[in-house]
Amino acid sequence: MRLVILGGAGAGKGTQAELLHQKLGIPFISTGEILRTAIATQTELGKQVQSLVESGELVPDEQMIEWIGQRLTQPDITQGWLLEGYPRTAFQAEELDFLLDALHQRLDYAISLEVPDSILVERSRLRARTDDTPDILQRRLMLFHERTQPLLEYYQMRDRLLRVDGSQTVEHVQQEILKKLGH
Ligand code: AMP
Repeated sequence: MRLVILGGAGAGKGTQAELLHQKLGIPFISTGEILRTAIATQTELGKQVQSLVESGELVPDEQMIEWIGQRLTQPDITQGWLLEGYPRTAFQAEELDFLLDALHQRLDYAISLEVPDSILVERSRLRARTDDTPDILQRRLMLFHERTQPLLEYYQMRDRLLRVDGSQTVEHVQQEILKKLGH
């Protein structure tokens, strides 16, 4: 199964992706986690993206597209994957489709975790990560609405979209996702 999980900062993408990974046994790739680890260990990628990630900006599409192209062609994930935090822009979504076409693969679903902004802000405040300070969080939310939310229509038109109420408890959200996936 090939899935992407979409939602604003604090929507529960990481938590739900981890649970789906455990229940369905599919490899889980979180671009946010990978970038944060790259920064913490000061790899070449980490140094390049540090100021963008820490200020809540998006890493340039070209860089992310190249990275995902390399990652999705590695042998450990030929049977499926769950992407968390990718795609984030229309360009990334289109390029992901081109890549999948070239690999003769297909995305099964895009799961949209829908949570009102007020709850996103509150959850992120409690999480207190360095890129979750109030100013940076506002920027992240703005970018989510501007750049990522249009992807819902993109996947809806392709009959791939599963909308889930992400404001429920972790367990309820997980059950709703599994039900919609037919499990
Ligand atoms: P996240 O944990 O998914 O909210 O990601 C943390 C940060 O990593 C984001 O605010 C961006 O700076 C960067 N990032 C993660 N995924 C992407 C992506 N697909 N495109 C661009 N930037 C990304």
